[in-house]
Amino acid sequence: MGKASRDKRDIYYRKAKEEGWRARSAFKLLQIDEEFNIFEGVKRVVDLCAAPGSWSQVLSRKLYLPSKQSPVSKDGELPLIVAIDLQPMAPIEGVIQVQGDITNARTAEVVIRHFDGCKADLVVCDGAPDVTGLHDMDEFVQSQLILAGLTIVTHILRPGGKFIAKIFRGKDTSLLYCQLKLFFPVVTFAKPKSSRNSSIEAFAVCENYSPPGGFNPKDLHRLLEMVGSPSGGDDLDCSSGWLEGPNKVYIPFLACGDLSGYDSDRSYPLPKVVDGTYQSLDPVQPPIAPPYKRALEMKKASSHGIRDLEKLSLDA
Ligand code: SAM
Repeated sequence: MGKASRDKRDIYYRKAKEEGWRARSAFKLLQIDEEFNIFEGVKRVVDLCAAPGSWSQVLSRKLYLPSKQSPVSKDGELPLIVAIDLQPMAPIEGVIQVQGDITNARTAEVVIRHFDGCKADLVVCDGAPDVTGLHDMDEFVQSQLILAGLTIVTHILRPGGKFIAKIFRGKDTSLLYCQLKLFFPVVTFAKPKSSRNSSIEAFAVCENYSPPGGFNPKDLHRLLEMVGSPSGGDDLDCSSGWLEGPNKVYIPFLACGDLSGYDSDRSYPLPKVVDGTYQSLDPVQPPIAPPYKRALEMKKASSHGIRDLEKLSLDA
């Protein structure tokens, strides 16, 4: 699909370039905020799986830049934003970048060091593995990323804080909901308008972090494994009965974003231009070292190779 054709078919892709966002995902976070007011009172935030950086841009524009322009806090402290990804990211004003794997315990330690003993008000995680197309497999790997995010949350989020995480809807969605409910009294699964209906992605919006009394982050996995197991009911109030039969848990699911706004599944005509030709904008900031870079180089090299062979045979 060419750029102009994608501009037509994907209104959020076009709008992202027009508004200076690195990726269309920016609109997902903005629409979640429209519904849940997630930035209210936030001074410290962690952006997990942040590259190429459109969510970090939203955090910078919503939290850091306004504070810098007109400081409101008495201590004069600017909001602290720490972004982590496996991939390197081009700089964003007010965002500290850490290149690392969120499933690695040491990554949490690096983030904690940046917070200098203070806790975060908000943790967001838009992590996604490379999708294989095998639905169960993709859902499983995605849930592992959320659990890695939750591990970091248990070390770094202040009581009362919020956690927003991308999920893939599937057969284990209820289990994940129950696991998140152990730590957050309010959990809503949200589908922003900019997320296509055809995509299985949604976002868990978890509010008011309240870990169980006496909780030790070291016990997280043991605790999560007990959810939905027959022994889990007594001490956790989250038994297998929640997950099946007539007692099946019903997950609050909310569409968010202006419902009369742009529909991500529709094509829109391209804007008219003076001389009649539409000029597609380049992406704001292409990834600096994407995982597919080597594949592109190999593809390019092999197509050159084929062209050279064709040239040789024509010359012969
Ligand atoms: N929120 C980003 C934005 O708005 O630009 C887009 C995130 S993109 C959908 C998913 C990201 O998850 C990728 O950049 C990928 O490198 C990252 N990721 C996947 N697994 C990860 C891991 N184990 N640790 C850190 N980042 C990871």
